[in-house]
Amino acid sequence: MSKGYFGEFGGQFVAELLIPPLKELEDALENIVPSEAFQKEFSDYLKNYVGRESPLTHCPTLSTDLGFNLYLKREDLNHTGSHKINNVLGQALLAKHMGKKALLTETGAGMNGVATATAARALDMDCIVFMGAVDVERQSHNVRRMKLLGATVVPVEAGSKTLKDAINEALRFWIKKQATHHYCFGTAAGPHPFPTLVREFQSVVGKEARKQIIERTGALPHSVIACVGGGSNAIGIFSGFVDDCSVNLIGVEAAGTGEEGCTNSAPLCLGTAGILHGQKTMLLQDADGQIMPSHSIAGGLDYPGVGPEHAHLHHCGRAEYVKVNDMQTLHAFKALTRAEGIMPALESSHAVAYVLENKDKFPKGCNVIVNLSGRGDKDMDIVEQYTELFD
Ligand SMILES: *Cc1c(COP(=O)(O)O)cnc(C)c1O
Repeated sequence: MSKGYFGEFGGQFVAELLIPPLKELEDALENIVPSEAFQKEFSDYLKNYVGRESPLTHCPTLSTDLGFNLYLKREDLNHTGSHKINNVLGQALLAKHMGKKALLTETGAGMNGVATATAARALDMDCIVFMGAVDVERQSHNVRRMKLLGATVVPVEAGSKTLKDAINEALRFWIKKQATHHYCFGTAAGPHPFPTLVREFQSVVGKEARKQIIERTGALPHSVIACVGGGSNAIGIFSGFVDDCSVNLIGVEAAGTGEEGCTNSAPLCLGTAGILHGQKTMLLQDADGQIMPSHSIAGGLDYPGVGPEHAHLHHCGRAEYVKVNDMQTLHAFKALTRAEGIMPALESSHAVAYVLENKDKFPKGCNVIVNLSGRGDKDMDIVEQYTELFD
């Protein structure tokens, strides 16, 4: 079966009972998504509910220090504070067109859960969110937000009680409830057609950024840089430039503390090929194929796998994947906050950090776009622990 493959990665490695809802979703992607009626309704929501288009902001102070122009694609300014709402609203709207009554999803740090619970309210649907019991404990603020939005949050007690287990549980639940529920997958990963569907709904980021940078500078950028968890914000902005061979695409993974052998979330830089959550992709796994625990200071990057299209772009060399550690991330968080008055999410701070730490790799005077995937308000409890950030 070659359907849903990006080179050798991707596919649909799922239980027989999940084939029917995935097939139904493939049909919807082919027939409903391209229709004028759907596109018009989706654009209306992006404009009037999410607040698009998001600005492309030039950073004057950092650009002077760097010797080249740093532009930020401001996904932090979207409703609910990140790029996730683009995908979630697209899928919720599609589910509605497919006649579904409810959304189910998984969440790790809670951001996808909050975005899905929000979209469910906007479209008057029920919402159930699977979340590892450990994450329910450590992300209680987002659990309260989901509950206020009327969602049911189900703590998952299996395995390591984190995101990986929440996804397994959500897939199992979907088998039982496929007639009424749509699984609103949170990133550009999982079995076909999710990686393609999520890229489709996040591609608005790349389309806008390409138009905006050409309007502002008269040319394509030197590089486009984004953090990579499952890979949805990165594939969204990359998709606008992937056919422009002159543009460097750089994905930034989370290295954890950066020490040799530390727990990390960098399967492209440090992992091997294997199968997880219905897809063939790059994974953090041991020699027996057991998934290893992942970690990042940024909850949204904490996933032991990555979307299959990134595995392909890595494999064929069209995009470069690099990693940044926790301290470099915190330094970038502070640098952007102090220089420009823009407080980035710790996920997005990884992408900013790569630029700050590698300024010699960029020619003087060039134009670089960083996808600012989200805002930092949600990270106060973490950054509070680092007193040097307040000096
Ligand atoms: C969830 C999240 C990410 C990581 O997810 P991707 O699918 O890799 O984009 C990055 N930034 C923010 C702000 C997030 O909430």
